[in-house]
Amino acid sequence: MRATDEVVDIVSRLIRFDTSNTGRPETTVGERECAEWVAAQLEEVGYSTEYVESGMPGRGNVFARLPGADPNRGALLIHAHLDVVPAEADDWRVHPFSGAVQDGYIWGRGAVDMKDMAGMALALARQFKRDGTVPPRDLVFAFLADEEAGGTWGSHWLVDHRPDLFEGVTEAVGEVGGFSLTVDRPDGEVRRLYLVETAEKGLSWMRLTCDAQAGHGSFLAAENAVTEIASAVARIGAHQFPLVMTESVREFLAALSEETGLDFSPETPDLESALFKIGNLARIIGATLRDTANPTMLSAGYKANVIPQHAEAVIDCRVLPGRQEEFERTIDELIGPNVQREWITHLPAYETTFDGDLVDAMNAAVLAHDEKGRTVPYMLSGGTDAKAFARLGIRCFGFAPLQLPPDLDFAALFHGVDERVPVESVLFGTKVFEHFMHNC
Ligand SMILES: [Zn+2]
Repeated sequence: MRATDEVVDIVSRLIRFDTSNTGRPETTVGERECAEWVAAQLEEVGYSTEYVESGMPGRGNVFARLPGADPNRGALLIHAHLDVVPAEADDWRVHPFSGAVQDGYIWGRGAVDMKDMAGMALALARQFKRDGTVPPRDLVFAFLADEEAGGTWGSHWLVDHRPDLFEGVTEAVGEVGGFSLTVDRPDGEVRRLYLVETAEKGLSWMRLTCDAQAGHGSFLAAENAVTEIASAVARIGAHQFPLVMTESVREFLAALSEETGLDFSPETPDLESALFKIGNLARIIGATLRDTANPTMLSAGYKANVIPQHAEAVIDCRVLPGRQEEFERTIDELIGPNVQREWITHLPAYETTFDGDLVDAMNAAVLAHDEKGRTVPYMLSGGTDAKAFARLGIRCFGFAPLQLPPDLDFAALFHGVDERVPVESVLFGTKVFEHFMHNC
């Protein structure tokens, strides 16, 4: 049995575990069952696994290690989270936890985020064990809880409390990268760019508060917390941060310009809009050109004729690598002296270079299975478990290979309705991943 013989069934089976992560631990229930099933599949072929609950009952994580030829080389971590965001079944064409395989797709919540990669990793781990494969270096397979709520009860807990699980790991691959973007070349040919994630924006949620004199709504008011917060929020919401291209973005746009013959240089007027010429992926790429600070929550007051003494707001801040200090300086100017700020969540940005043996192995694996392929680095506007592993000094990449149909709006499937992944993409990805792991 080859990994490609069972990977579709495995992905479908993984989707049938409802591992919805609501963000509230008491209603997040499916992870244990799913993790135990993954462990059983690994043990069935001879792995000894470690099941670890990350700080809370039911937050199940599974680890297995396949020894490599050279124990002196650092291990490669292959990680996938098993939790998914919730889904409203009524909105879907198929039940989101059916794992239906129809019309050439595997359907369901997690199909692209990220039970596809979890399934590919599991199927390949099983094949390697059955075949007695010895990879060039140790492979550590990790199936994780709680990514969709930031990894507090998953990757971050494991890094803080069980760093031994990652002993000797120097590099890692996980989501969100390795998928193809088809572009038309000026010579009439197509090129498939495989986007390898080499960077992630920082994810920081900021609470703004203002405390001022409370008073009667009919009086002259020297202070007003609502006005202060509203002004600060309005200034932040209207502010555009400067265009700053980090190396990952610069390299990606240079490759895009080269392949399409279009101009995506930093000087392009309204570059964000111009990027939509490549399709909806522009929603992600465009968001990696600047820091952003989007007001998302606002609250104050309890009665129409009372000026409250307290008002607050929450701002979703996404900060580019190397920009944190400058970003905070700007925010302080925008909020002024009467508004205080604090981080509710603060996960720094991450960036690594697109070079070295592991990148060469990704390149070779893609080219071996797609002669029109080319790997390019890119930055993710969101966050993944890589942020946790980077804290251990692990060099992280997003590489979950998928060859996608040119017209599929891949970005829309993440957390979207009718999430699904083409069967062919998963079979292709499994072969690329196999090639990669054999040569990593
Ligand atoms: Zn994910």
